Amino acid sequence: MILPDKVQKIADNVPGKYYVDIRCIGCNVCAEIAPENFRSDLEEGHEYICKQPTTETEEALCLEAMEICPVNAIGNDGVLE
Ligand code: SF4
Repeated sequence: MILPDKVQKIADNVPGKYYVDIRCIGCNVCAEIAPENFRSDLEEGHEYICKQPTTETEEALCLEAMEICPVNAIGNDGVLE
């Protein structure tokens, strides 16, 4: 199993626990699940964290997105700000 690598975070992620790494293939599933927290960079063809989750609902949706990501490109072990 490939694990997310926080050393290879996409630069657009806002600081905090959740991040998308460079393995993202831009399938858009995470943004459909958690639209408040994931945003598409259409030019670069990937998603990034635009807002860290601040409610239990957002946290649950981010976790769901992380579990369903087909290439395990979402991590939640980044530094808490
Ligand atoms: S689900 Fe994973 S591969 Fe798909 S856009 Fe989100 S981070 Fe990228």
